[in-house]
Amino acid sequence: MSVLSIDTQPPSTADIRALRTRIAGDIVLRGDSDWDAARQAWNLAVDQRPFAVARVESADDVVAIVEFARVHGLRVAPQGTGHGASALPGLEDAILVKTDRMRKVDIDAAARRARVEAGAVWADVVEPAAEQGFVVLHGSSPDVGVVGYTLGGGMGWLARSRGLAANSVTAVELVTADGRQVRADRENEPDLFWAVRGGGGSFGVVTAVELELFKTPELYAGAMFWPVDRAAEVLHAWREWVETVPDTVTSVGRILHLPPVEDIPEPVRGKSFVVVEAVFTGPASEGADLVAPLRALDPAMNTFAAAPAVSLPHLHMDPPKPVPGVGDGMFLDELPAEAVDALVATGVPPLLSLEVRHLGGALAEPSAAQGAVGSIDAGYAVFAVGFAMTPEIGAFVDEAVDRAKEALAPWESERTYFNFAERSVDAARLYTPET
Ligand SMILES: Cc1cc2nc3c(=O)[nH]c(=O)nc-3n(C[C@H](O)[C@H](O)[C@H](O)COP(=O)(O)OP(=O)(O)OC[C@H]3O[C@@H](n4cnc5c(N)ncnc54)[C@H](O)[C@@H]3O)c2cc1C
Repeated sequence: MSVLSIDTQPPSTADIRALRTRIAGDIVLRGDSDWDAARQAWNLAVDQRPFAVARVESADDVVAIVEFARVHGLRVAPQGTGHGASALPGLEDAILVKTDRMRKVDIDAAARRARVEAGAVWADVVEPAAEQGFVVLHGSSPDVGVVGYTLGGGMGWLARSRGLAANSVTAVELVTADGRQVRADRENEPDLFWAVRGGGGSFGVVTAVELELFKTPELYAGAMFWPVDRAAEVLHAWREWVETVPDTVTSVGRILHLPPVEDIPEPVRGKSFVVVEAVFTGPASEGADLVAPLRALDPAMNTFAAAPAVSLPHLHMDPPKPVPGVGDGMFLDELPAEAVDALVATGVPPLLSLEVRHLGGALAEPSAAQGAVGSIDAGYAVFAVGFAMTPEIGAFVDEAVDRAKEALAPWESERTYFNFAERSVDAARLYTPET
């Protein structure tokens, strides 16, 4: 967010001291003992070097930071976790506003609403919501930030039955570039409410979101693993299978090369697989029938079973703590057999994972009630990623990501997905022309 004013003065030591006394949180500057910890993003491969880091504790703190930035000609970059940090431009003239101390979650079961502070991650919401019989439209990882994910659209395990998470937002509390605290919803600030739902974090610093809660359906979920040398056979079968399933099934086909590190369970550590993961909202017996064609391929491991809502954020096996990653994504209009061949040819190390998510269903249903991004008309989403323990390995992974994207380019959609764009993209590609 840019908050530049024309008459700006760089901050003096006295200005910083005054700001520190004004806020409940902390201002961390280069040279402070906690500088490296404060500027670190979840993605450890990203070296963030902002002008300062503000560790805010309240909406009033955010107002103070925005006013300070305006007076002193600085930009403001809000960050919950730093999962999306690689997409940020240089931060030398920015205050990085870290919201990770603002993680309060209130569940209002009667109103079917959750009010979630800006620094909360999905695990903070999924668990208390489940205790009261509700699910939320989280994604594949428990520690992705609710706000960053939702502002960018938010595609998770209920995507084909419930659509994008951005459509479940009922209100947003944010601090605008002129330092106003605003609650945007359908009645108040409707344009702002439209823009933030899918338009990302450039319209202000969000201090809380209010989300719709959905009554927990019966869930049948799991993953099947086969040795990677069966990748072509399994992914071709998955491609044919997804064309037969109802909108109550959301699934992912992927090639996984798991590194030999202790965090990964022993049975799969250091091994390579082709994997199909899926969630079905309905009775287990029906779910078991639906996945029967995949089961007939005789997987080496099969975890499909009736599943509690709290298990869904763990199904995709995303890293449970910060890691260095280099990746990027794209939408595909369609996935013909040739595209599966391209996936199999390029889903090799140093990529850790090359995945394809099946879209459609409720994701593809536009409505006038939606915000800047409310639906996706592409058939599939791809994400390629690898670990980048050093910048040199990162460059090597980056080339592998490029190879996968180039091989899939013939089927690439004109549009791309905000949340899977880990490199700078032309903003026009994030939206359909009519939005
Ligand atoms: C392991 C992993 C799994 C993922 N799984 C999925 C998935 O299943 N589905 C999906 O759709 N995406 C997924 N993503 C992508 C993820 O949704 C995006 O990277 C998202 O931007 C992360 O949000 P964050 O708040 O955690 O990250 P951050 O890097 O903290 O935030 C990302 C951006 O969001 C904006 N933002 C954050 N907080 C605020 C705020 N308070 N006010 C205003 N703007 C703000 C800013 O523009 C910021 O740069 C995944 C990413 C990773 C790394």
